[in-house]
Amino acid sequence: MKTRICQAKDGIAEAVSLLEAGEPVALPTETVYGLAADALSPIACAKIFEAKGRPLCDPLIVHLPGNDWLERIAIPTPLAVALADAFWPGPLTLVLHRTALVPDLVTDGRDTVAVRQSAHPVFQEIVTAFGRPLAAPSANRFGRISPTTAHHVIAELEGRIPLIVDAGPCPHGIESTIVEVLEDRLRILRQGPVTADDLRAFAPLDDTPSGVSAPGGMKSHYAPHTRLLIEENPRPASDRHGLLAWSGNGKGFSHVERLSANGDLREAAANLYGAMRRLDAAGLELITAEPVPESGIGEAIMDRLRKASAR
Ligand code: AMP
Ligand code: MG
Repeated sequence: MKTRICQAKDGIAEAVSLLEAGEPVALPTETVYGLAADALSPIACAKIFEAKGRPLCDPLIVHLPGNDWLERIAIPTPLAVALADAFWPGPLTLVLHRTALVPDLVTDGRDTVAVRQSAHPVFQEIVTAFGRPLAAPSANRFGRISPTTAHHVIAELEGRIPLIVDAGPCPHGIESTIVEVLEDRLRILRQGPVTADDLRAFAPLDDTPSGVSAPGGMKSHYAPHTRLLIEENPRPASDRHGLLAWSGNGKGFSHVERLSANGDLREAAANLYGAMRRLDAAGLELITAEPVPESGIGEAIMDRLRKASAR
């Protein structure tokens, strides 16, 4: 299969007709590029799993065209509605009880479904024209680094999908926060752009581990091929040692990627995956990542670095 990249202005109509034909299409979101398909069609969703090499036990996030779809897909509690009102469209995924409309393939047969609404104008235009929810996990091979540009999607899925709609780099650069909505509490399943402090304003956080296992919550994920270690004040150990830099000067390292020039954690999140990909392509023996402060979105960055370093 030939994979085409289209600029957003030319690609929207074609993306919608491919989705209508049950094909998966890579689309920009405000978090990372997603591989989207008709969430209500098991055959279309099966093509997502196939293209990504994703195990069927890893459920998909469903992206809604509008709030009116929430009750058709899920059973929203007052707390869920308050969160949706506050953060949608945006990078917050809610895990809620589901309705019978959702195919089992999307949820891995669970009685819950993960839902969100993307704030990216191109994604919104496509899902609105399509008129039905889109399942859209990150557009990478399973377990690998999420794509934040159309070029990254080519590196992951060329020849496996028909179309990538290119709208430039993703503004957040890191996957959505996933939160399980319990009766009167919230449990964070994946850290992301919406932070623990943002959520605490709505309900207390439950730190006990979730009963549901979720591959996005697996120990190893988002991983480069090159071994990656996290270390404070690292020293270069060989002439093929790369640094993912936060605070150090990078002296003596053969390849340095700096997450932010002025210590801005949002900028660091947006640069993280591109920097990891460049380091991974540089033929290094080892990548060392300097830790970032674990406040705000820094928690999500450290979560991704820990998963990238786990073997
Ligand atoms: P992504 O690969 O970025 O689309 O994220 C999908 C992740 O969302 C999965 O790996 C799970 O961690 C989580 N997820 C999706 N659906 C559910 C669900 N029904 N219950 C719990 N977690 C879910
Ligand atoms: Mg993913």
